[in-house]
Formats: sequence, structure tokens, C-alpha cells
Amino acid sequence: PLELRIANLENKERKYPPVKYLSEKDRKRILVTGGAGFVGSHLVDALLMAGHEVTVVDNFFTGRKRNIEHWIGHENFELLNHDIVEPVLLEVDQIYHLASPASPPNYMYNPIKTIKTNTLGTLNMLGLAKRVHARLLLASTSEVYGDPEEHPQREEYWGHVNPIGPRACYDEGKRVAETMCYAYAKQDHVEVRVARIFNTFGPRMHMNDGRVVSNFIMQALEGKPLTVYGSGKQTRSFQYISDLVNGLILLMNSDFSQPVNIGNPVEYTIMEFAEMISATVGGKTMISNVAKMEDDPQRRKPDISRARKYLGWEPKVPLLVGLNRTIAYFKKELDKSKKSKLI
Ligand code: NAD
Ligand code: UDP
Ligand code: UDP
Repeated sequence: PLELRIANLENKERKYPPVKYLSEKDRKRILVTGGAGFVGSHLVDALLMAGHEVTVVDNFFTGRKRNIEHWIGHENFELLNHDIVEPVLLEVDQIYHLASPASPPNYMYNPIKTIKTNTLGTLNMLGLAKRVHARLLLASTSEVYGDPEEHPQREEYWGHVNPIGPRACYDEGKRVAETMCYAYAKQDHVEVRVARIFNTFGPRMHMNDGRVVSNFIMQALEGKPLTVYGSGKQTRSFQYISDLVNGLILLMNSDFSQPVNIGNPVEYTIMEFAEMISATVGGKTMISNVAKMEDDPQRRKPDISRARKYLGWEPKVPLLVGLNRTIAYFKKELDKSKKSKLI
């Protein structure tokens, strides 16, 4: 149709990423809370490019307009500066509920706010989903397993969380968020999906967000020693962002309503990880041993049998491939910040 050709022409002139055409029946109105953050912005890209209409609700606590600026002005895209702790009225078909700080220093910065975002914020999104009959996907976390006594972690495992420790605002906040999802599903017939996301990395992570991937890459690029907290024997399993985004979209559109682990099961100790990043960036490995984090989970690795069985999903991007892309992104960010300091 003519309108579409005009829209495409406008897209080209403004250099928007290409979007697929979807018929009205297939095109959905999708809300992404936290859509200006690291994960949210990549999800927004995938949904818009697939031809859907996307509204982002974000209060820019840890997110940045820059992550989604390439869509501003596009007719399928809307950005609302709003704090989800306050109610909001929108008409949508699906809600990807991602709003919450995710990095330990960020969520510990204001624990009460983290609790409010994950409890009151999730309540508001469930109330919205109920009112407009939208399906809601909660971005939950491997942190619901706490410092796990079972390894690898299956979704049936109930977890081992310290309810009054420094991580509790986030861990318990997400646990209540899950509880609320299933209460609304049972009592009010809201369709819910729960993704338990394991450590994820990639471009658009904030360079100062304090997570291990950004810390180690920045330290290696700046020739500083890599700060290993504690013995470095604790483990994590790192997934690349594009794998996560594929998993979230598959889960949202599946018939499976129980929690699903989305993560890469290849496990490393933090010390191995430090060495790998040093070697990939180049230069000699320098490690600085820092005090251990309180309640730091000692072993973490997802069992992804459920995702394989019900979503036909598994991670595709090898760690080194993802790391090289992320290092290239951080190099650019570093150059940009050096240039802006000169001005
Ligand atoms: P992020 O900090 O980059 O993004 C979170 C976004 O939520 C930001 O844009 C922030 O401004 C927004 N936000 C926070 N509080 C808000 C509020 N009250 N109202 C509106 N917006 C608010 O983090 P991320 O890594 O992109 O994580 C996204 C989601 O995925 C989070 O829910 C997180 O718990 C979950 N998750 C992420 C990981 C990971 O490794 N990245 C792992 C497990 C779970
Ligand atoms: N809510 C919202 N947007 C909506 C519908 C509800 O933000 O479109 C909020 C509402 O203000 C309430 C929460 O979601 O705080 C839970 O809504 P629900 O209808 O379940 O509860 P009630 O309003 O009856 O307490
Ligand atoms: N970590 C580290 N050095 C850093 C940052 C983190 O050794 O500079 C460790 C941290 O103690 C944890 C792991 O790396 O064992 C992953 O930390 P991150 O904050 O990235 O995420 P978490 O999985 O703990 O939420």
C-alpha cells in the first residue's frame, strides 16, 4: 500500500533500522517497562524490527535515552518517562516487564526503591494486564535461587535466600514479583510468563554499572588490575544478549506459563573469567584481590532442559564471540568519553 511505501521512505530518510511489515492481525501493541536499559533496549529493537508497535516506560534510573534514540520519532515507537511505582493507563496486548535495576551496586544504592519497583511496580503492571487482558512476561532472575545448594539450578528448586541480607531487596523483591504473577493468574486469569534470567552481557551495558563483565573489560582496556572479589572460585555462566532476547520472545509467545531459566550453561570461575578477558583484550593479566561480597552466590549455572523442551531454545553465541563484540563496544564508549572530556 501507498501509506506503507511512504512510511518506508520516511524510515529511510531518517535512517531508522528496517522494520518488517505485519498485517494488522499479527501486529501487536507491546509495552516494555525498563525498555531504555541494557536488556530492554535490545528487546525493543527486536520487537520493532519484527513489525510490532512498542511503548517504552522507563524512569531512566539506570537506563539511557541513548540506548533507544535510533527509534525516536518512528511511528511504531513511543517513549514514556514514567516511574512504574505509580499507576499508568495504557492499551496494550503484551507487557514485557523488565523495569528494575539489575546490577548489585545499582539495586543496593536505594534498597527501598528497589523493593518498591519490584513489588508495587509489578502490582501496577499486573493490574494493567488484568484491565486490558494483556499477557505479562516478568523478567525474573537466577537470584531467586539465592546462594544455591542445588547445582545446576532447575526451576523446581525453591532457593536459598537470606531475607535480610544486602541482596534481599532484589532477590526477595523478584520472589514476591513471581508470587504476584501466579496469584493474578490464578485469581484474575491474567496470562503470565516468568523468565528466570541468568547473567547476561553485551553492548549497551553501562560501563560503570559495577557488574563483573563491564568492570573487567573496562579495567583490562585501561591497563588496570582486574578486581576479583573474594577467592575468585565462585562461578557464573554468561549468556550473550541476543540469545536472551530470542528466549524472551519465544517464552512470551509460547503456551508455557511456569517459570523458565534463560541462560547459558557454560560455567566459569570468576578467576578463569578474569584471565579470559585479559587474554582477549591483550596485555598482561593483573589481578587485584578485593574483599568478598556478602552473601555472594558461590555457584551458578542454569539447567535449561525446560527451555529446550518447551521453547525449542538454547543459547547460540559462544562466550568469546560475545566478549569480542562487547569489548569493541566498550572501546568505542571509552573513546567517546575521552573525547567529551577534552571538549
Ligand atoms: P538495566 O539497569 O540496564 O535496566 C533496567 C531498566 O529499568 C532501566 O532502564 C531503568 O531506568 C528502568 N527502571 C528501573 N526502575 C524503574 C522504575 N521504578 N520505573 C520505570 N523504570 C525503571 O538492567 P538490565 O540488565 O537491562 O535488566 C533488565 C531486567 O532483567 C531487570 O528486571 C533485571 O532484574 C532482569 N535481569 C537481568 C539480568 C542481567 O544479567 N542483565 C539477569 C537477571 C535478571
Ligand atoms: N493499575 C494500573 N493501570 C491499570 C490498571 C491498574 O496502574 O490500567 C494499578 C492500580 O492502580 C492498582 C494496581 O494496578 O494499584 C492493581 O490493580 P488491581 O485492579 O488488581 O487492584 P485494585 O485497583 O482493585 O486495588
Ligand atoms: N565480581 C568480581 N569483581 C567485580 C565484580 C564482580 O569478582 O569487579 C564477582 C562477584 O563477586 C560475583 C560475580 O563476579 O561473584 C558476578 O558479579 P555480578 O555483579 O556481575 O553479578 P551477580 O551474578 O553477582 O548478580
